[in-house]
Amino acid sequence: MADAKQNGYGLPAINVSNMETMQTLLEAAEEMKSPIIVQVSPMQLQYHEISFVLFIDLLRRIGRDISIPWALHLDHATTKEQCLEAVRAGFDSVMFDGSHLKIETNIGILKELRKAVGNAITLEGELGAIGGAEATEESLTSVMTDPTQAAEFVQETGVDFLAVSIGNAHGFYKGEPKLDFQRLEEIEKATKIPLVLHGGTGIPEKDLKKAIQHGMCKCNFFSEIDRAFQEGLFEEPEKNGMYMQKQKNARRRMKMQVKQKIKECGSEGRA
Ligand SMILES: [Zn+2]
Repeated sequence: MADAKQNGYGLPAINVSNMETMQTLLEAAEEMKSPIIVQVSPMQLQYHEISFVLFIDLLRRIGRDISIPWALHLDHATTKEQCLEAVRAGFDSVMFDGSHLKIETNIGILKELRKAVGNAITLEGELGAIGGAEATEESLTSVMTDPTQAAEFVQETGVDFLAVSIGNAHGFYKGEPKLDFQRLEEIEKATKIPLVLHGGTGIPEKDLKKAIQHGMCKCNFFSEIDRAFQEGLFEEPEKNGMYMQKQKNARRRMKMQVKQKIKECGSEGRA
């Protein structure tokens, strides 16, 4: 992250949840010689019925044969317990998403987490709310991150990275997303730590690059990559084929999409 911040590129942070998606992500990053953040949310693990321990064992085995640097991050944990369980299992980094809580509670839990995990684990916090893509422009504006509050939040919690809301949203955007770059510049100046762009899907390349230039060092992508995998599953001529045939197309499509994101983030060749 420090290298990304210093050299003005973004580190793609991509959600995976099973063996196929782990292999595809790491292979894509390796072929592009890009460092990569592998991430998963507690919700994904629940859907796939995979424990933190099984997830990391599988990833470590796959990652052992991969030559680029990768790290494992827990995305959108909503409780302190989830973060601690992930750290005990061996995750490198965790996000506690307390954006839906009162700010004092959000700060309080992050402080407790820092105390519990020390400085070896990186902590991501979120201030301001990043909505789903159904969010309207007005509703997004009302929950955007306030630069002054962000500086205090970083100071008090000691988070390593901060997820901010500047008009970005999760999922697929209805129209063209409008990012508030003025606000982003102010947050960057006020906080000085690497910032995290959630809802990277659908942000035009020029805006993504501009956001990276203003401190968005970790760029989260999921929806587009998940969609590519699914489209691959139902691609002709395997429409009626067996899973082993379909997943081959799914992996090919996902890999193309990951490589595209690596290019857009400028992390190609940085490993
Ligand atoms: Zn997110």
